[in-house]
Amino acid sequence: MRTAVVVGAGLAGLATAGALARCGWHVVVLEQSERVAAPPTALVLWPNGRRALESLDADGGWSAIATPLPDGGVRRPDGQWLVTPRAGGAGPAPGVVHLEDLYDALVAGLGDLVEIRTGFPVTTIRTGPGLRPVIGDGRTEIEADLVVAADGIDSTLRRTLAPESAAVGSGFAAWQAVIPGYRVPPMPDGLAAGGETLGAGYRFVAIPLGERAGGQGGVYWVATAAGAPRPESPATQLELLRRWFADWHPPVGELLAATHAGELVPQEVRELRPLPRAYAFPSGPGGVVLLGDAAHAMPHHLGQGACLAFEDAATLRALAGEAAPGPALTAALEAYSRLRQPRATTVVRQTRRMSAVVQARGRLALRARDAALNHMRPRILSAPFAEWQPPD
Ligand SMILES: Cc1cc2nc3c(=O)[nH]c(=O)nc-3n(C[C@H](O)[C@H](O)[C@H](O)COP(=O)(O)OP(=O)(O)OC[C@H]3O[C@@H](n4cnc5c(N)ncnc54)[C@H](O)[C@@H]3O)c2cc1C
Repeated sequence: MRTAVVVGAGLAGLATAGALARCGWHVVVLEQSERVAAPPTALVLWPNGRRALESLDADGGWSAIATPLPDGGVRRPDGQWLVTPRAGGAGPAPGVVHLEDLYDALVAGLGDLVEIRTGFPVTTIRTGPGLRPVIGDGRTEIEADLVVAADGIDSTLRRTLAPESAAVGSGFAAWQAVIPGYRVPPMPDGLAAGGETLGAGYRFVAIPLGERAGGQGGVYWVATAAGAPRPESPATQLELLRRWFADWHPPVGELLAATHAGELVPQEVRELRPLPRAYAFPSGPGGVVLLGDAAHAMPHHLGQGACLAFEDAATLRALAGEAAPGPALTAALEAYSRLRQPRATTVVRQTRRMSAVVQARGRLALRARDAALNHMRPRILSAPFAEWQPPD
């Protein structure tokens, strides 16, 4: 039987493990944490991410947990529109999902052919001509035809195989939270469509989650500020956010007031610079592939990190799902790298343009930003992303 080891049980690893198993691979998932657990946040799935997930998930079960996300437009802190909301757009409508629901759906899709080993921090990898890739944690070694490095931005495997690429700070800090439905403050008209607000070096996005399976609903928000991550406790950071966003149009202040410190997920925003030159490393009859944040971690401004990870998984399945170890599998992995590396480069380039928009400060820079945004944003949000299709 063809064997694969997937390192990392995040979104990328879980999606890929299920996809390979459904093609008949025996898959072992190795996760360093003691449990597979979703952060208590949410995620926007843009049309490319939805399409990728649909191509991975034979029964489409995940779509039942996503709430459609109409374009809520972009405003200034005083409430004035920078980009007015638009109806429709290319491809399927974007959706927002609670991460716990998405993890549950992906775990449910793993089936009997996937074995998950938690508390297994991979520390070593051996590859070479004629050698099946071997990974280990210093005590146990496991070899497989295919190793999938889905171990996130600090990927141990990438550091060994693509040392030219390093994780660096993007110059932002981000805070996320989900306010449960029963504590959501009354919403003014218009927030039902979700909304984004851009200030000088600050950004606030709020998205209603709709009714979850448990009927809780709720609102997801993400705040971004240019600068270093804060060292203070979550309670103090929440106080800081309330101060920074105090004069912003409703319901920004109301949402921050309704958030509890225990719900706050603070994070430094980081990215890979440069991206790895290749995403596949042949070894013996198969090899290693990089996937998800391990391959192309980027700032969250366009909400594309997980969407690209699902594209990676869908592409790997389309190219290598049926391939036999040997020349067919090696060729499939090389084709994966040829397709995915340029694709990630394009999306990262667009994301960096958006970073410049979010980072704009000073009167002249803000005026230029506001003029550019109206023209740039609809194109960025619809063009190359929505049109992506999994390879045949
Ligand atoms: C504020 C914010 C908002 C975002 N919003 C969106 C959005 O709206 N839409 C979108 O598409 N993307 C979004 N993203 C990006 C998205 O969250 C990430 O791209 C995605 O979660 C990456 O998933 P991953 O599985 O590749 O990595 P991770 O989630 O980092 O998973 C890696 C897994 O590997 C494990 N691991 C690490 N090292 C080892 C090891 N050595 N051995 C074993 N296991 C290991 C880790 O414990 C972890 O479980 C956002 C990101 C941020 C910061």
